[in-house]
Amino acid sequence: MTESLPPTRPRIPGAGLAKGLAVTLRTMTRKTVTEQYPDVQPELPPRTRGVIGLFEENCTVCMLCARECPDWCIYIDSHKETVPAAVEGGRERSRNVLDRFAIDFALCMYCGICIEVCPFDALFWSPEFEYAETDIHELTHERDRLREWMWTVPAPPALDPAAEEPKELAAARKAADKLAAAQAAAAEEPTPGEPTPGESTPGEPTPGEEGPA
Ligand code: SF4
Ligand code: SF4
Repeated sequence: MTESLPPTRPRIPGAGLAKGLAVTLRTMTRKTVTEQYPDVQPELPPRTRGVIGLFEENCTVCMLCARECPDWCIYIDSHKETVPAAVEGGRERSRNVLDRFAIDFALCMYCGICIEVCPFDALFWSPEFEYAETDIHELTHERDRLREWMWTVPAPPALDPAAEEPKELAAARKAADKLAAAQAAAAEEPTPGEPTPGESTPGEPTPGEEGPA
Protein backbone atom coordinates (compact mmCIF):
# COMPACT_ATOMS: atom_id res chain seq x y z
CA MET A 1 0.00 0.00 0.00
CA THR A 2 1.45 3.38 -0.98
CA GLU A 3 1.17 6.45 1.33
CA SER A 4 -0.54 9.42 -0.20
CA LEU A 5 1.67 12.54 -0.39
CA PRO A 6 0.37 15.83 1.10
CA PRO A 7 -1.07 18.11 -1.53
CA THR A 8 1.46 20.66 -2.82
CA ARG A 9 0.61 24.31 -2.27
CA PRO A 10 -0.01 26.34 -5.37
CA ARG A 11 3.05 28.50 -6.22
CA ILE A 12 2.46 32.25 -6.25
CA PRO A 13 4.63 33.90 -8.88
CA GLY A 14 7.13 36.38 -7.36
CA ALA A 15 6.62 35.18 -3.71
CA GLY A 16 10.32 34.31 -3.32
CA LEU A 17 11.37 37.69 -4.64
CA ALA A 18 8.99 39.49 -2.25
CA LYS A 19 10.34 37.46 0.69
CA GLY A 20 13.92 38.32 -0.24
CA LEU A 21 13.10 42.01 -0.55
CA ALA A 22 11.37 41.93 2.84
CA VAL A 23 14.55 40.54 4.44
CA THR A 24 16.63 43.24 2.70
CA LEU A 25 14.30 46.01 3.90
CA ARG A 26 14.28 44.68 7.46
CA THR A 27 18.09 44.54 7.56
CA MET A 28 18.43 48.04 6.07
CA THR A 29 16.36 49.59 8.83
CA ARG A 30 18.27 47.89 11.68
CA LYS A 31 21.31 49.41 13.41
CA THR A 32 24.47 48.02 11.87
CA VAL A 33 26.63 45.87 14.16
CA THR A 34 29.58 45.35 11.83
CA GLU A 35 32.76 46.99 13.13
CA GLN A 36 35.33 48.25 10.66
CA TYR A 37 38.29 46.68 12.49
CA PRO A 38 41.24 47.39 12.20
CA ASP A 39 40.38 50.90 10.95
CA VAL A 40 38.09 51.37 13.94
CA GLN A 41 39.05 49.83 17.27
CA PRO A 42 36.24 47.88 18.95
CA GLU A 43 34.78 49.16 22.21
CA LEU A 44 35.40 46.24 24.52
CA PRO A 45 33.76 45.71 27.90
CA PRO A 46 36.10 46.50 30.81
CA ARG A 47 36.19 42.86 31.94
CA THR A 48 37.39 41.57 28.57
CA ARG A 49 39.91 38.75 28.88
CA GLY A 50 42.53 39.84 26.37
CA VAL A 51 45.91 39.26 27.95
CA ILE A 52 47.32 38.93 31.48
CA GLY A 53 49.42 41.69 33.05
CA LEU A 54 51.91 41.07 35.87
CA PHE A 55 52.49 43.60 38.64
CA GLU A 56 55.66 41.95 39.85
CA GLU A 57 56.13 44.20 42.90
CA ASN A 58 53.16 42.38 44.42
CA CYS A 59 54.38 38.90 43.52
CA THR A 60 55.83 36.92 46.42
CA VAL A 61 56.65 33.87 44.27
CA CYS A 62 54.15 31.79 46.22
CA MET A 63 53.65 29.63 43.09
CA LEU A 64 49.88 29.35 43.62
CA CYS A 65 49.06 30.57 40.11
CA ALA A 66 51.48 28.13 38.46
CA ARG A 67 50.16 25.23 40.53
CA GLU A 68 46.49 25.99 39.86
CA CYS A 69 46.84 26.73 36.13
CA PRO A 70 45.03 23.85 34.38
CA ASP A 71 47.27 24.17 31.31
CA TRP A 72 50.57 24.43 33.18
CA CYS A 73 51.49 27.41 31.04
CA ILE A 74 52.92 29.67 33.77
CA TYR A 75 56.67 29.35 34.23
CA ILE A 76 58.24 30.76 37.38
CA ASP A 77 61.87 30.60 38.49
CA SER A 78 63.16 32.12 41.72
CA HIS A 79 65.94 31.92 44.26
CA LYS A 80 66.12 32.59 47.99
CA GLU A 81 67.91 35.53 49.54
CA THR A 82 68.73 36.17 53.17
CA VAL A 83 67.51 39.46 54.56
CA PRO A 84 69.57 40.66 57.56
CA ALA A 85 67.75 41.26 60.85
CA ALA A 86 66.02 44.63 61.10
CA VAL A 87 67.11 45.13 64.72
CA GLU A 88 70.20 44.07 66.58
CA GLY A 89 69.83 40.57 67.97
CA GLY A 90 66.86 39.86 65.65
CA ARG A 91 66.52 36.90 63.35
CA GLU A 92 67.55 36.85 59.71
CA ARG A 93 64.76 36.20 57.25
CA SER A 94 64.80 34.55 53.87
CA ARG A 95 62.72 35.76 50.95
CA ASN A 96 62.03 34.57 47.42
CA VAL A 97 63.38 36.66 44.56
CA LEU A 98 61.72 36.33 41.17
CA ASP A 99 64.05 35.34 38.32
CA ARG A 100 61.54 34.43 35.65
CA PHE A 101 57.79 34.81 35.21
CA ALA A 102 56.34 33.84 31.85
CA ILE A 103 52.96 32.86 30.45
CA ASP A 104 52.59 30.83 27.26
CA PHE A 105 49.52 32.30 25.58
CA ALA A 106 49.65 29.55 22.95
CA LEU A 107 48.53 27.16 25.71
CA CYS A 108 46.52 29.53 27.92
CA MET A 109 42.76 28.99 27.73
CA TYR A 110 41.91 32.32 29.39
CA CYS A 111 40.09 30.68 32.28
CA GLY A 112 41.29 33.37 34.73
CA ILE A 113 42.06 30.89 37.53
CA CYS A 114 45.58 32.30 38.01
CA ILE A 115 44.13 35.79 38.53
CA GLU A 116 41.47 34.52 40.91
CA VAL A 117 43.86 32.53 43.11
CA CYS A 118 46.69 35.09 43.35
CA PRO A 119 46.52 36.15 47.01
CA PHE A 120 48.59 39.29 46.45
CA ASP A 121 46.87 40.96 43.47
CA ALA A 122 49.82 40.52 41.15
CA LEU A 123 47.90 39.40 38.04
CA PHE A 124 45.26 41.36 36.13
CA TRP A 125 43.24 41.06 32.94
CA SER A 126 43.92 43.56 30.21
CA PRO A 127 41.51 43.91 27.25
CA GLU A 128 44.44 44.11 24.77
CA PHE A 129 44.22 41.38 22.17
CA GLU A 130 46.54 42.45 19.35
CA TYR A 131 49.47 40.15 19.98
CA ALA A 132 49.12 37.54 17.25
CA GLU A 133 52.47 36.14 16.10
CA THR A 134 53.68 34.19 13.11
CA ASP A 135 56.05 32.21 15.35
CA ILE A 136 54.28 30.30 18.14
CA HIS A 137 57.30 30.67 20.45
CA GLU A 138 56.72 34.42 20.51
CA LEU A 139 53.44 33.81 22.32
CA THR A 140 55.36 33.05 25.51
CA HIS A 141 55.43 36.46 27.17
CA GLU A 142 58.25 36.97 29.64
CA ARG A 143 58.02 39.19 32.72
CA ASP A 144 58.99 42.43 30.93
CA ARG A 145 56.24 41.96 28.36
CA LEU A 146 53.76 40.93 31.06
CA ARG A 147 54.65 44.10 32.97
CA GLU A 148 54.01 46.22 29.86
CA TRP A 149 50.48 44.81 29.71
CA MET A 150 49.90 46.17 33.22
CA TRP A 151 49.71 49.71 31.86
CA THR A 152 46.76 48.71 29.69
CA VAL A 153 44.69 47.34 32.56
CA PRO A 154 41.57 49.51 33.01
CA ALA A 155 40.96 51.20 36.34
CA PRO A 156 38.52 49.35 38.60
CA PRO A 157 34.92 50.58 38.50
CA ALA A 158 33.90 53.12 41.13
CA LEU A 159 32.41 51.74 44.32
CA ASP A 160 28.66 51.66 44.73
CA PRO A 161 27.85 54.68 46.98
CA ALA A 162 25.65 52.42 49.13
CA ALA A 163 28.33 49.73 49.45
CA GLU A 164 30.00 48.87 52.73
CA GLU A 165 33.37 50.54 53.26
CA PRO A 166 36.24 48.26 52.15
CA LYS A 167 37.86 46.62 55.17
CA GLU A 168 41.30 47.95 54.20
CA LEU A 169 39.94 51.53 54.33
CA ALA A 170 38.16 50.89 57.63
CA ALA A 171 41.38 49.49 59.16
CA ALA A 172 43.44 52.44 57.86
CA ARG A 173 40.87 54.92 59.21
CA LYS A 174 40.87 53.22 62.62
CA ALA A 175 44.68 53.34 62.80
CA ALA A 176 44.71 57.02 61.75
CA ASP A 177 42.06 57.92 64.39
CA LYS A 178 44.04 56.09 67.08
CA LEU A 179 47.24 57.93 66.10
CA ALA A 180 45.45 61.31 66.08
CA ALA A 181 43.98 60.61 69.55
CA ALA A 182 47.41 59.66 70.92
CA GLN A 183 48.95 62.85 69.46
CA ALA A 184 46.17 64.99 70.92
CA ALA A 185 46.64 63.40 74.37
CA ALA A 186 50.41 63.97 74.18
CA ALA A 187 49.87 67.65 73.25
CA GLU A 188 47.58 68.16 76.27
CA GLU A 189 50.03 66.65 78.77
CA PRO A 190 52.05 69.42 80.59
CA THR A 191 55.77 69.44 80.02
CA PRO A 192 57.83 68.95 83.27
CA GLY A 193 58.35 72.27 85.13
CA GLU A 194 55.38 73.92 83.44
CA PRO A 195 52.40 74.75 85.72
CA THR A 196 49.17 72.89 85.02
CA PRO A 197 46.14 75.14 84.32
CA GLY A 198 44.86 76.61 87.67
CA GLU A 199 48.23 76.07 89.41
CA SER A 200 50.17 79.22 90.35
CA THR A 201 53.87 79.67 89.84
CA PRO A 202 55.99 80.29 93.01
CA GLY A 203 55.86 83.99 94.09
CA GLU A 204 52.65 84.61 92.18
CA PRO A 205 49.45 85.16 94.24
CA THR A 206 46.87 82.40 93.87
CA PRO A 207 43.40 83.55 92.87
CA GLY A 208 41.59 85.02 95.95
CA GLU A 209 44.89 85.67 97.80
CA GLU A 210 45.97 89.25 98.18
CA GLY A 211 49.48 90.42 97.51
CA PRO A 212 51.66 92.47 99.97
CA ALA A 213 50.09 95.86 100.84
S1 SF4 B 1 44.15 32.12 32.42
FE1 SF4 B 1 43.96 29.93 33.03
S2 SF4 B 1 45.10 28.81 31.47
FE2 SF4 B 1 45.73 30.95 31.28
S3 SF4 B 1 47.56 31.15 32.54
FE3 SF4 B 1 45.82 31.68 33.85
S4 SF4 B 1 45.23 29.75 34.86
FE4 SF4 B 1 46.55 29.22 33.11
S1 SF4 C 1 49.95 33.58 42.80
FE1 SF4 C 1 50.42 35.77 42.63
S2 SF4 C 1 51.99 36.13 44.21
FE2 SF4 C 1 51.87 33.89 43.85
S3 SF4 C 1 53.45 33.49 42.31
FE3 SF4 C 1 51.52 33.80 41.21
S4 SF4 C 1 51.54 35.99 40.70
FE4 SF4 C 1 53.07 35.68 42.27
